[in-house]
Amino acid sequence: MSFNFVKKLDFESEFFDLYKLSESAYGAIAKEDSMMGSNAGFIDIGDYLIIIDTTLTAKAAEDLKQASLQYTQKEPNFVVITHYHMDHIIGNSIFDKSTQIITSDRTLTNIRTESKKSFDQFKDFDPDKIADLEESLKTETIEEKILDIQNDLRFLKGVRSVKFLREPNLTFKNGCIIHGDKKSVHLQSFKKAHTDGDVMVYIPEEKVLFAGDLLFANRDPWIGSGDPEGWVSVNDELMKLDFKITVPGHGDLASKKTFSLESKYIKELIELVKNKINIGEDSTQIKREDFSKELQSWNSICFGWNINFLAELLKKS
Ligand SMILES: [Zn+2]
Repeated sequence: MSFNFVKKLDFESEFFDLYKLSESAYGAIAKEDSMMGSNAGFIDIGDYLIIIDTTLTAKAAEDLKQASLQYTQKEPNFVVITHYHMDHIIGNSIFDKSTQIITSDRTLTNIRTESKKSFDQFKDFDPDKIADLEESLKTETIEEKILDIQNDLRFLKGVRSVKFLREPNLTFKNGCIIHGDKKSVHLQSFKKAHTDGDVMVYIPEEKVLFAGDLLFANRDPWIGSGDPEGWVSVNDELMKLDFKITVPGHGDLASKKTFSLESKYIKELIELVKNKINIGEDSTQIKREDFSKELQSWNSICFGWNINFLAELLKKS
């Protein structure tokens, strides 16, 4: 989707393309399969500079910081973390204590438990086994397994690109506003959706929304860390906001319509898995063609994971 008010900037990075979305907001859209792992951005509110998410690797976070300095001539005062997944927080540690890292209470709890556990596991991963994984890529022929291995390798390398995981030092329960002398930025958390404690970043004056992983634009959203039905209702809430563009956690710059497509996918997937369970069939038989036409071209590693997650979840309920 293209937006006539958005300007692509000529910042050179192997990790992302940079866009100026409005007077104060910039979106960094991750290049496919780069070690950035997820989208990010920054907002210049006059007397403060805010970075949104710190990506999967120290180098991508350094590029983001460099871009923000180049286009705003400011050092970051705040980093907002949208949720606890590793591909959004690894770069935290490149920011020193002069930068406050903000998130929701529940995301901090998740970082201290879930992220910490994965971080330690990846950090301690035997280097020989990394070489084995790389070797296995050369001979693996099943597409799904190749994507799985590539994903594991990206996360392993991302975690190993930093010495430690810096935790956010400032948290809020439901929301807060950062007041700059030019603009204000609203942070808000929701009920469990993509994860428990997801945070969105919204600039009402400019109608710009950073959705974190509450939005995967035109690709399977990863639903296995959250509550699929809760997510649909959070999307309904988000769509009531007045915005003209959103930076999704994954995929290209998007509009309100992209949220409704994502909800449609979640609802259809729930129904498809329920139906398979009801007739006693294996839910792994669900195919892309079983979805509505506009969802059939979606493609990501999460498809099979989502089906397995839902099948387990629905069998329990
Ligand atoms: Zn995520």
